[in-house]
Amino acid sequence: MSLDHDFHLHSTASDGTLAPAQLMERAALAGIRTLALTDHDTTEGLAEAAEAARRLGVRLFPGVEISVTWNGMTVHVVGLGVDPADAALQRGLAGLREFRDWRAEEIGRRLAKDGIPETFEQARALSSGRLISRTHFARVLVERNLAESVRDVFRRYLVRGRPGHVPGQWAPLGEAVGWITGAGGQAVIAHPARYPLNRGQLRRLGQEFRAAGGVGLEVVSGSHSADDNRLMAIHAQGLGLLASVGSDYHGPGQSYLELGRLPPLPAGCTPLWQGEALAA
Ligand code: AMP
Ligand code: MN
Ligand code: MN
Ligand code: MN
Repeated sequence: MSLDHDFHLHSTASDGTLAPAQLMERAALAGIRTLALTDHDTTEGLAEAAEAARRLGVRLFPGVEISVTWNGMTVHVVGLGVDPADAALQRGLAGLREFRDWRAEEIGRRLAKDGIPETFEQARALSSGRLISRTHFARVLVERNLAESVRDVFRRYLVRGRPGHVPGQWAPLGEAVGWITGAGGQAVIAHPARYPLNRGQLRRLGQEFRAAGGVGLEVVSGSHSADDNRLMAIHAQGLGLLASVGSDYHGPGQSYLELGRLPPLPAGCTPLWQGEALAA
């Protein structure tokens, strides 16, 4: 039943490679009927996506994936059903993009010091004036034959201890959840199995998130293994969080999974879309 739902997708408004309308077309062709566009720290792609979704007869929830710093580490919180016109949400996202702009220049400076010049300029060109993600730097380095793959670039240049690493200074968890709920949306912890957290730490994240007004855990993610999905189903139940599903699709050949290939939710979860949360 979750196969025709996908609540985590990226377009060229952030670090995806398909324009919002193209993404909607590909999703509809893959049989997805209910979906959310969740670009990093921006709602810029939503208007174009909504128009395409209407034309294609698919149900689109306006979404966003907000970068959060929690206990010194980066956590992503997806907002579903947010009103993109909400002023507090937009102020919050604008602040994150300001940090992104500074960080992109800083990554460029650090890579230049390491003997790789001009990466900021190239990443900016690749992002076509929209927000710059580390993914853009990764694609630039692959293009310049400095690494084999995007994943290889992250490992060698962009993560902690590597020459192009710049620590994140993103939104506090409670603030990000507040922007989402204040804009009428539902907050969901994205790809929870990807964080380097033990059970107890993940439980604490989930509890703080719930206390702040968060309602969902992305139990099934395109970046999870089958075991991760099962474990996260148990965490969702223990924490009293609803279960969401999302491919985290970034474009053809860019992601772990092609569209429409998400496995179903493990038994025992309460799907986010069956409660009142995303009904309408
Ligand atoms: P940013 O928000 O600019 O720091 O970039 C984070 C994005 O980089 C994520 O949303 C992923 O799309 C991508 N990413 C992060 N880590 C990796 C990795 N190890 N391999 C490939 N892509 C990654
Ligand atoms: Mn991304
Ligand atoms: Mn993410
Ligand atoms: Mn994502």
